[in-house]
Parts: sequence; structure tokens; C-alpha cells
Amino acid sequence: MGLSGKTALVTGSTSGIGLGIATELAREGANVVLNGFGDAAAIEKVRASLAREHNVGVVYCNADVTRPAQIAEMMSKAETEFGGVDVLVNNAGIQHVAPVEEFPVDKWDAIIAINLSASFHTVRLATPGMKRKKWGRIINIASAHALVASPFKVAYVAAKHGIAGLTKTVALELAQHGVTVNAICPGYVRTPLVEKQIPDTAKARGITEEQVVRDVLLAAQPTKRFVAIEEVAAITKFLCSDGAASITGALLPVDGGWSAQ
Ligand code: NAD
Repeated sequence: MGLSGKTALVTGSTSGIGLGIATELAREGANVVLNGFGDAAAIEKVRASLAREHNVGVVYCNADVTRPAQIAEMMSKAETEFGGVDVLVNNAGIQHVAPVEEFPVDKWDAIIAINLSASFHTVRLATPGMKRKKWGRIINIASAHALVASPFKVAYVAAKHGIAGLTKTVALELAQHGVTVNAICPGYVRTPLVEKQIPDTAKARGITEEQVVRDVLLAAQPTKRFVAIEEVAAITKFLCSDGAASITGALLPVDGGWSAQ
């Protein structure tokens, strides 16, 4: 129970990787602020069961992270409910797959807002409290696409490379304050985000959906299997531990060897 008494805020934790991370941190004893979209009743069920199973405080905030004012309200809620945020996991993210000349401008704007700018806002708002407590963990769920590119994902790759820069810069600023700042760079994880891009990739490349999984997604991953959500949650938990206190400013691939090529 390495995180009891601490509070973790995980953006985009109603689904996929974020939900897996929120669950792992609750298991470690942290209070949790859940965030993201989805069916209200289903989210309430998740919230209540996390609180009950792990005997921690869990609140849900429906902030749209494209809206800085809503992010500020979410951070205030964490302050009122639990006395602030000790572990900040920037995870909310979306994807859109299209050739650059056809890439919709509104998709570019949304991806930059959710996958990049939202992390600037959560970080700037969480930092004063972490400095005061002389302890904090900021973990950005970037992507292998923070390290390497793929065609047809111009906004996503740009945003994730931006997250790499944000991670390194803030790590330097907070290095002497007991706060570490790292990015986890997963390869393909079979979540709704990936499921949704399979038909678009098939269309963009003129191939079948089966070919997308075999020849595009897993072609990049030498292990030839999807990364498990639990594997991303495990490294998040490790980064929160005292043993990881000297890891900061790092971009950590969890990609089955993809970025080693
Ligand atoms: P997902 O679609 O399962 O979950 C995304 C979450 O973000 C959901 O909870 C959704 O409600 C939330 N969200 C979306 N827009 C939001 C907004 N405007 N405000 C608040 N919340 C919002 O996706 P996932 O695959 O679990 O992705 C999570 C993160 O992991 C993303 O940043 C993604 O880029 C990254 N990632 C995913 C993979 C993968 O293969 N799935 C690989 C590398 C990195």
C-alpha cells in the first residue's frame, strides 16, 4: 500500500489504459480522481467499486480537458476532496488517421488540445501543491509515437513529440523539489482508441482490417502481440515508488521493442 494517504488524478480514466492505471493506483492505496467521458451509470459503477474494493476515496469529474477552465475546476475539486494531487497521470488522448492533405483542421486542433495542451494545464496547476509538499509524481502517457513517427498520424505524432519536450522541461524545473516527471511510451494496446483507428487505417492504406492488425499495427512490434494495459499500469506504479526517485525526464518505451528498430 505504497500510496496510502496520497491522491492520484488520472485524466481519461473512464476507459482503456487510464482506467487500468487508476485501478492499480487505488490498489496501492491512493485516493483517485477519475476523469473522462462515457455512460454516467457505468462510470458511477466503476467509481463505487474502486472505492469499495480498495477502501479509498474515489471521485469522478467530467471535465473536458480541451477546456482549461474545466481542468482548473477539476484540480480544485481534488483539493477540496483530498487536499490536492500527489500523482498526476496525463492520459486522456484521442487519435485520427488521415493523409496530411486531407487531415481535418478541427481534428488537428482537438488532438493538440487533448493530447498536448491539457497536460500543460494540469501540470501548471498541480505543480505548486507538489512543490509545497516536496513530493510529487507526474506521469505522462505519451506513446511510441513520442519517439518515432508513422504516416497518416500527423497531429498525434506532433502532440506526442510535444509531450516528450514538456516532460523533459518540467523534469528539469522540478528536479530539486522531490517531484519526478516522466513519460511512458507504449506501443499498441488493444483499447477503444486502437479499435477505432483500424477501419480508418484500412481506408487510408487501401487494405483490409485484418491486414491492418497484422501488417501495420503488430508489424511495428517485434513481440508480435499487443502491450497489455496491466503492463502500462505496472510501470506507472513503479514510477510512483521511492525506488524510482532518481528517474526523471525519462521517455520510457513499453513497446515490445518497436522503437529499438
Ligand atoms: P481510450 O479511448 O480507451 O481512452 C481515452 C480516455 O480519454 C477515455 O476515458 C476518454 O473518455 C478520455 N477523453 C477523451 N477525450 C477527452 C476530453 N476531451 N476530456 C477528458 N477526457 C477525454 O484510449 P487509450 O488507448 O486507453 O488511450 C489512453 C492514452 O494512451 C492516450 O493518451 C493514448 O494516446 C495513449 N496511448 C495509447 C496506445 C494504444 O495503443 N491504445 C498506445 C500508446 C499510447
